[in-house]
Amino acid sequence: MKNSAAEVGRERYALAIDLGGTNTEVALVSRKGKITGRRRLLTRCYGDVRSFVEAVASTARELMDTTGTTESVEGAGVGAPCLNAATGCIEAATDLPWPSPIPLRELLSEALGMRVEAVNDANAAAAGEAGYGAAKGMKNFVMLTLGTGVGGGVMCDGHLLSGRSGFAAELGHVVVRNGEGRPCGCGRCDCLQTYCSASGVVTTAKKLLEEFPGWPSMLRDMDIEALTAADVSEAADCGDGLALEVWRRTGERLGDACASFAAFADPEAFVFFGGVARAFPHFVQALRESFDRNALHLYSGKVAMLPSALDSGDAALLGAAALIFNEKE
Ligand SMILES: [Zn+2]
Repeated sequence: MKNSAAEVGRERYALAIDLGGTNTEVALVSRKGKITGRRRLLTRCYGDVRSFVEAVASTARELMDTTGTTESVEGAGVGAPCLNAATGCIEAATDLPWPSPIPLRELLSEALGMRVEAVNDANAAAAGEAGYGAAKGMKNFVMLTLGTGVGGGVMCDGHLLSGRSGFAAELGHVVVRNGEGRPCGCGRCDCLQTYCSASGVVTTAKKLLEEFPGWPSMLRDMDIEALTAADVSEAADCGDGLALEVWRRTGERLGDACASFAAFADPEAFVFFGGVARAFPHFVQALRESFDRNALHLYSGKVAMLPSALDSGDAALLGAAALIFNEKE
Protein backbone atom coordinates (compact mmCIF):
# COMPACT_ATOMS: atom_id res chain seq x y z
CA MET A 1 0.00 0.00 0.00
CA LYS A 2 1.27 3.47 -0.87
CA ASN A 3 1.76 5.91 1.97
CA SER A 4 -0.14 9.17 1.62
CA ALA A 5 1.88 12.07 0.21
CA ALA A 6 1.52 14.02 3.47
CA GLU A 7 2.75 11.10 5.53
CA VAL A 8 5.76 10.53 3.28
CA GLY A 9 6.46 14.28 3.16
CA ARG A 10 6.84 14.50 6.94
CA GLU A 11 9.02 11.47 7.35
CA ARG A 12 12.59 10.82 6.20
CA TYR A 13 13.84 7.35 5.31
CA ALA A 14 17.04 5.35 4.98
CA LEU A 15 17.63 2.24 2.97
CA ALA A 16 19.00 -0.44 5.29
CA ILE A 17 21.00 -3.40 4.00
CA ASP A 18 22.03 -6.30 6.23
CA LEU A 19 24.43 -8.48 4.30
CA GLY A 20 24.87 -11.97 5.69
CA GLY A 21 26.50 -15.17 4.45
CA THR A 22 23.12 -16.83 3.88
CA ASN A 23 20.55 -14.04 3.55
CA THR A 24 20.69 -10.36 2.73
CA GLU A 25 17.86 -8.11 3.86
CA VAL A 26 16.95 -4.82 2.23
CA ALA A 27 14.49 -2.52 4.00
CA LEU A 28 13.19 1.01 4.23
CA VAL A 29 13.42 2.44 7.73
CA SER A 30 11.94 5.73 8.89
CA ARG A 31 13.92 8.14 11.05
CA LYS A 32 11.75 7.04 13.99
CA GLY A 33 12.88 3.46 13.46
CA LYS A 34 9.79 2.02 11.80
CA ILE A 35 10.52 -0.64 9.18
CA THR A 36 8.22 0.26 6.29
CA GLY A 37 9.06 -2.56 3.89
CA ARG A 38 11.61 -5.35 3.72
CA ARG A 39 12.79 -7.92 1.19
CA ARG A 40 15.10 -10.91 1.50
CA LEU A 41 17.69 -12.07 -1.06
CA LEU A 42 19.62 -15.34 -0.92
CA THR A 43 23.23 -14.15 -0.87
CA ARG A 44 24.66 -17.41 -2.22
CA CYS A 45 22.46 -17.35 -5.33
CA TYR A 46 24.68 -14.70 -6.92
CA GLY A 47 27.79 -15.98 -8.68
CA ASP A 48 29.62 -12.67 -8.56
CA VAL A 49 29.39 -9.58 -6.43
CA ARG A 50 28.32 -7.29 -9.29
CA SER A 51 25.15 -9.28 -10.03
CA PHE A 52 24.46 -9.32 -6.28
CA VAL A 53 24.82 -5.52 -6.02
CA GLU A 54 22.53 -5.11 -9.06
CA ALA A 55 19.89 -7.30 -7.39
CA VAL A 56 20.15 -5.28 -4.15
CA ALA A 57 19.77 -2.03 -6.11
CA SER A 58 16.74 -3.19 -8.10
CA THR A 59 15.13 -4.52 -4.90
CA ALA A 60 15.76 -1.14 -3.26
CA ARG A 61 14.23 0.75 -6.21
CA GLU A 62 11.18 -1.52 -6.15
CA LEU A 63 10.76 -0.90 -2.39
CA MET A 64 11.04 2.88 -2.80
CA ASP A 65 8.58 2.83 -5.73
CA THR A 66 5.90 0.78 -3.96
CA THR A 67 6.11 2.87 -0.80
CA GLY A 68 6.37 6.21 -2.62
CA THR A 69 9.47 7.16 -0.64
CA THR A 70 12.03 7.69 -3.43
CA GLU A 71 12.28 11.44 -2.75
CA SER A 72 12.51 10.98 1.02
CA VAL A 73 15.46 8.57 1.22
CA GLU A 74 18.59 10.18 2.66
CA GLY A 75 21.06 7.39 1.97
CA ALA A 76 21.80 3.72 2.41
CA GLY A 77 23.35 2.12 5.49
CA VAL A 78 25.02 -1.28 5.26
CA GLY A 79 26.15 -3.77 7.89
CA ALA A 80 28.36 -6.61 6.62
CA PRO A 81 30.88 -9.09 8.03
CA CYS A 82 34.57 -8.07 7.94
CA LEU A 83 33.72 -4.66 6.53
CA ASN A 84 36.48 -2.12 6.90
CA ALA A 85 34.75 1.20 7.56
CA ALA A 86 37.82 3.17 6.51
CA THR A 87 37.90 1.73 2.97
CA GLY A 88 34.29 0.52 2.56
CA CYS A 89 35.68 -2.88 1.50
CA ILE A 90 34.85 -6.34 2.81
CA GLU A 91 38.19 -7.90 3.63
CA ALA A 92 38.91 -11.59 4.12
CA ALA A 93 35.29 -12.66 4.65
CA THR A 94 35.26 -16.43 5.00
CA ASP A 95 31.47 -16.50 5.05
CA LEU A 96 30.72 -14.99 1.62
CA PRO A 97 30.77 -16.74 -1.76
CA TRP A 98 32.91 -14.11 -3.53
CA PRO A 99 36.64 -13.39 -3.32
CA SER A 100 37.78 -10.53 -1.04
CA PRO A 101 38.45 -7.65 -1.01
CA ILE A 102 34.99 -6.51 -2.14
CA PRO A 103 34.63 -2.74 -2.66
CA LEU A 104 31.04 -2.87 -1.39
CA ARG A 105 30.48 0.79 -0.50
CA GLU A 106 31.70 1.99 -3.90
CA LEU A 107 29.71 -0.61 -5.88
CA LEU A 108 26.49 0.11 -3.96
CA SER A 109 26.91 3.85 -4.16
CA GLU A 110 27.29 3.59 -7.97
CA ALA A 111 24.33 1.22 -8.34
CA LEU A 112 22.00 3.19 -6.03
CA GLY A 113 23.14 6.70 -6.92
CA MET A 114 23.10 7.80 -3.28
CA ARG A 115 25.30 8.18 -0.21
CA VAL A 116 26.26 4.82 1.32
CA GLU A 117 27.64 4.29 4.85
CA ALA A 118 29.02 0.84 5.58
CA VAL A 119 30.39 -0.75 8.76
CA ASN A 120 30.91 -4.25 10.18
CA ASP A 121 28.10 -6.09 11.99
CA ALA A 122 29.18 -5.19 15.52
CA ASN A 123 29.46 -1.49 14.69
CA ALA A 124 26.05 -1.60 12.99
CA ALA A 125 24.66 -3.14 16.19
CA ALA A 126 26.21 -0.27 18.18
CA ALA A 127 24.67 2.32 15.84
CA GLY A 128 21.29 0.59 16.19
CA GLU A 129 21.41 0.60 20.00
CA ALA A 130 22.44 4.28 19.95
CA GLY A 131 19.64 5.25 17.58
CA TYR A 132 16.77 3.07 18.74
CA GLY A 133 17.81 0.68 21.50
CA ALA A 134 19.30 0.37 24.97
CA ALA A 135 21.87 3.15 24.40
CA LYS A 136 19.43 5.67 22.92
CA GLY A 137 20.79 9.16 23.53
CA MET A 138 24.13 7.89 24.92
CA LYS A 139 27.32 9.32 23.47
CA ASN A 140 29.66 6.89 25.24
CA PHE A 141 29.04 3.17 25.45
CA VAL A 142 30.62 -0.15 24.51
CA MET A 143 28.72 -2.74 22.51
CA LEU A 144 29.58 -6.42 22.80
CA THR A 145 28.01 -8.90 20.39
CA LEU A 146 28.13 -12.41 21.83
CA GLY A 147 27.46 -15.01 19.15
CA THR A 148 29.58 -17.34 17.03
CA GLY A 149 32.42 -14.99 17.95
CA VAL A 150 32.60 -11.90 20.15
CA GLY A 151 32.44 -8.55 18.35
CA GLY A 152 32.90 -5.06 19.72
CA GLY A 153 31.78 -1.55 18.89
CA VAL A 154 32.87 1.54 20.81
CA MET A 155 30.82 4.72 20.71
CA CYS A 156 33.06 7.47 22.02
CA ASP A 157 31.91 11.11 22.24
CA GLY A 158 29.10 10.26 19.81
CA HIS A 159 31.33 8.65 17.17
CA LEU A 160 31.93 5.00 16.37
CA LEU A 161 35.64 4.30 16.74
CA SER A 162 37.01 3.19 13.41
CA GLY A 163 40.79 3.36 13.85
CA ARG A 164 43.63 3.82 11.39
CA SER A 165 42.60 0.96 9.12
CA GLY A 166 39.02 0.37 10.24
CA PHE A 167 39.80 -2.41 12.71
CA ALA A 168 39.26 -0.64 16.05
CA ALA A 169 37.31 -2.42 18.81
CA GLU A 170 38.13 -6.05 18.00
CA LEU A 171 37.24 -6.68 21.62
CA GLY A 172 36.68 -10.42 21.16
CA HIS A 173 40.43 -10.81 20.68
CA VAL A 174 41.54 -9.15 23.90
CA VAL A 175 43.41 -11.77 25.93
CA VAL A 176 41.84 -12.67 29.30
CA ARG A 177 43.74 -12.98 32.60
CA ASN A 178 44.54 -16.37 34.13
CA GLY A 179 43.40 -18.22 31.05
CA GLU A 180 43.38 -21.96 30.49
CA GLY A 181 45.23 -21.75 27.18
CA ARG A 182 42.15 -22.03 24.95
CA PRO A 183 43.12 -21.70 21.28
CA CYS A 184 41.39 -18.96 19.24
CA GLY A 185 40.64 -18.94 15.51
CA CYS A 186 43.03 -15.99 15.17
CA GLY A 187 45.98 -18.27 16.02
CA ARG A 188 46.55 -16.96 19.53
CA CYS A 189 45.38 -18.25 22.92
CA ASP A 190 42.84 -17.13 25.54
CA CYS A 191 41.06 -14.43 23.52
CA LEU A 192 37.84 -13.27 25.22
CA GLN A 193 35.79 -15.02 22.56
CA THR A 194 37.20 -18.42 23.50
CA TYR A 195 35.24 -17.96 26.79
CA CYS A 196 32.24 -15.78 25.98
CA SER A 197 31.15 -16.81 22.45
CA ALA A 198 28.62 -19.62 21.93
CA SER A 199 31.41 -22.19 21.50
CA GLY A 200 33.27 -20.70 24.49
CA VAL A 201 30.24 -21.31 26.71
CA VAL A 202 30.02 -24.90 25.45
CA THR A 203 33.74 -25.44 26.17
CA THR A 204 33.20 -24.23 29.75
CA ALA A 205 30.22 -26.58 30.14
CA LYS A 206 32.21 -29.59 28.87
CA LYS A 207 35.09 -28.70 31.17
CA LEU A 208 32.80 -28.58 34.25
CA LEU A 209 31.08 -31.85 33.30
CA GLU A 210 34.47 -33.52 33.09
CA GLU A 211 35.96 -31.88 36.17
CA PHE A 212 33.02 -32.69 38.45
CA PRO A 213 31.76 -36.13 37.35
CA GLY A 214 29.60 -36.45 40.47
CA TRP A 215 27.72 -33.21 39.89
CA PRO A 216 24.26 -34.13 38.58
CA SER A 217 23.15 -32.07 35.60
CA MET A 218 20.54 -32.43 32.85
CA LEU A 219 23.36 -31.64 30.39
CA ARG A 220 24.66 -35.15 31.04
CA ASP A 221 21.53 -36.58 29.39
CA MET A 222 22.28 -34.70 26.17
CA ASP A 223 24.58 -35.59 23.28
CA ILE A 224 27.66 -33.79 24.59
CA GLU A 225 29.24 -33.48 21.14
CA ALA A 226 26.14 -31.63 19.88
CA LEU A 227 25.77 -29.40 22.98
CA THR A 228 24.95 -25.70 22.24
CA ALA A 229 24.97 -22.50 24.30
CA ALA A 230 21.16 -22.48 23.95
CA ASP A 231 21.07 -25.92 25.69
CA VAL A 232 23.16 -24.53 28.56
CA SER A 233 20.79 -21.56 28.75
CA GLU A 234 17.70 -23.79 28.83
CA ALA A 235 19.25 -25.96 31.54
CA ALA A 236 19.92 -22.81 33.57
CA ASP A 237 16.27 -21.76 33.03
CA CYS A 238 15.35 -25.04 34.77
CA GLY A 239 17.63 -24.23 37.71
CA ASP A 240 20.38 -26.71 36.74
CA GLY A 241 23.25 -25.92 39.11
CA LEU A 242 26.08 -26.86 36.75
CA ALA A 243 24.59 -24.82 33.90
CA LEU A 244 24.17 -21.83 36.25
CA GLU A 245 27.85 -22.18 37.18
CA VAL A 246 28.79 -22.09 33.47
CA TRP A 247 26.98 -18.75 33.12
CA ARG A 248 28.47 -17.44 36.37
CA ARG A 249 31.97 -18.13 35.03
CA THR A 250 31.07 -16.58 31.66
CA GLY A 251 29.81 -13.42 33.40
CA GLU A 252 32.91 -13.28 35.55
CA ARG A 253 35.26 -13.38 32.53
CA LEU A 254 33.16 -10.81 30.73
CA GLY A 255 33.06 -8.46 33.72
CA ASP A 256 36.83 -8.62 34.13
CA ALA A 257 37.32 -7.77 30.44
CA CYS A 258 34.78 -4.92 30.67
CA ALA A 259 36.74 -3.51 33.63
CA SER A 260 39.71 -3.10 31.27
CA PHE A 261 37.56 -1.73 28.44
CA ALA A 262 36.19 0.94 30.83
CA ALA A 263 39.71 2.24 31.41
CA PHE A 264 40.11 3.28 27.80
CA ALA A 265 36.52 4.19 26.82
CA ASP A 266 34.99 5.64 30.05
CA PRO A 267 31.52 4.41 28.98
CA GLU A 268 28.10 5.09 30.48
CA ALA A 269 27.08 1.54 29.71
CA PHE A 270 27.98 -1.82 28.19
CA VAL A 271 25.31 -3.23 25.88
CA PHE A 272 25.15 -6.98 25.14
CA PHE A 273 23.64 -8.38 21.96
CA GLY A 274 23.54 -11.73 20.15
CA GLY A 275 22.52 -15.34 20.72
CA VAL A 276 24.62 -15.78 23.88
CA ALA A 277 23.31 -12.48 25.30
CA ARG A 278 19.83 -14.05 25.47
CA ALA A 279 21.14 -15.74 28.62
CA PHE A 280 21.78 -12.25 30.08
CA PRO A 281 19.61 -12.87 33.20
CA HIS A 282 21.83 -15.88 34.00
CA PHE A 283 25.15 -14.01 33.85
CA VAL A 284 24.33 -10.39 34.71
CA GLN A 285 24.94 -10.70 38.45
CA ALA A 286 28.40 -12.27 38.01
CA LEU A 287 29.14 -9.74 35.27
CA ARG A 288 28.30 -6.75 37.52
CA GLU A 289 30.13 -8.11 40.54
CA SER A 290 33.22 -8.97 38.52
CA PHE A 291 33.21 -5.56 36.83
CA ASP A 292 32.84 -3.67 40.11
CA ARG A 293 35.53 -5.78 41.77
CA ASN A 294 38.06 -5.42 38.95
CA ALA A 295 37.45 -1.92 37.58
CA LEU A 296 39.37 1.14 38.69
CA HIS A 297 37.45 3.07 41.38
CA LEU A 298 36.66 5.77 38.77
CA TYR A 299 34.32 3.33 36.98
CA SER A 300 33.44 0.76 39.65
CA GLY A 301 29.70 0.85 40.43
CA LYS A 302 29.09 3.58 37.86
CA VAL A 303 28.66 1.76 34.55
CA ALA A 304 25.32 0.23 33.49
CA MET A 305 25.19 -3.33 32.12
CA LEU A 306 22.31 -3.58 29.64
CA PRO A 307 20.89 -6.24 27.37
CA SER A 308 20.02 -5.11 23.83
CA ALA A 309 16.60 -3.46 23.62
CA LEU A 310 16.11 -4.31 19.95
CA ASP A 311 14.20 -7.20 18.45
CA SER A 312 16.92 -9.57 17.23
CA GLY A 313 15.30 -9.85 13.77
CA ASP A 314 15.23 -6.07 13.28
CA ALA A 315 18.45 -5.00 15.01
CA ALA A 316 20.79 -5.27 12.00
CA LEU A 317 18.44 -3.26 9.78
CA LEU A 318 17.86 -0.57 12.41
CA GLY A 319 21.62 -0.37 12.93
CA ALA A 320 22.25 0.08 9.21
CA ALA A 321 19.60 2.82 9.03
CA ALA A 322 21.01 4.54 12.10
CA LEU A 323 24.33 4.97 10.24
CA ILE A 324 22.51 7.45 8.01
CA PHE A 325 20.43 9.23 10.68
CA ASN A 326 22.92 9.28 13.60
CA GLU A 327 25.46 11.20 11.50
CA LYS A 328 23.02 14.07 10.98
CA GLU A 329 22.24 14.68 14.63
ZN1 LIG B 1 41.59 -14.37 18.92
